[in-house]
Amino acid sequence: MIITKKREFKDLMENIKGYKSFFLIGCSECATLCGTGGEPELKSMKEVLEAEGKAVTGSFIAKTGCQVLGTKVELKPFKDAIDKAECIIVMSCGAGTQTAVELYEDKAVYPANDSLFLGNMTRLQFFDERCSLCGRCILDKTGGICPITACPKGILNGPCGGCKDGHCEISPDIKCAWVRIYERMKKLNKLQELCETTIEAKDWSAAQKPRTLIAREEKKK
Ligand code: SF4
Ligand code: SF4
Repeated sequence: MIITKKREFKDLMENIKGYKSFFLIGCSECATLCGTGGEPELKSMKEVLEAEGKAVTGSFIAKTGCQVLGTKVELKPFKDAIDKAECIIVMSCGAGTQTAVELYEDKAVYPANDSLFLGNMTRLQFFDERCSLCGRCILDKTGGICPITACPKGILNGPCGGCKDGHCEISPDIKCAWVRIYERMKKLNKLQELCETTIEAKDWSAAQKPRTLIAREEKKK
């Protein structure tokens, strides 16, 4: 999931100071789980905007805010409320915000959240970064633990000399990614495989932005 956190309200207020009326869009997926774009957050945004003398013409929570066509269909019943608003505030990730930009080319659109990383919710409202979207996954070689993401240096054949008592020199709160990989491979009885594997210097061309994927073409291969 995409991990988001609320932007400073004063920064949003600075963005929208020239507008009086707003339509709010949240997202039922990641932003709801992050507590940045679900029902309670939209309700609270409406209240604080109204307290600032702004009008909220309506609000809506997209099923999946980054799904452009689906969101376009879902928003049809809100046409009048959106027409009445001078500006749209999107309470999802940056991709969801850009869905609104694409659907409403002539209307101002501002994000309420910062998009931080791709991660997992490991317990309630606690998120861990797990994947850096490198484009060529090496989890098959590392026991399913990503050193590009879990090691602050992204070391592909570790650990480095900074590993102390199994922890990372960057912070004692971080367990060394390569110690985790070693322990996992040991549990799987695959230490020999780990010892015999050298991960080659990464070809970052698959991470060149902006990236596009036509999944239906891939299916034909
Ligand atoms: S190797 Fe690349 S694709 Fe795989 S988890 Fe790590 S960053 Fe993500
Ligand atoms: S101690 Fe481990 S996690 Fe930290 S930088 Fe070195 S290899 Fe990476």
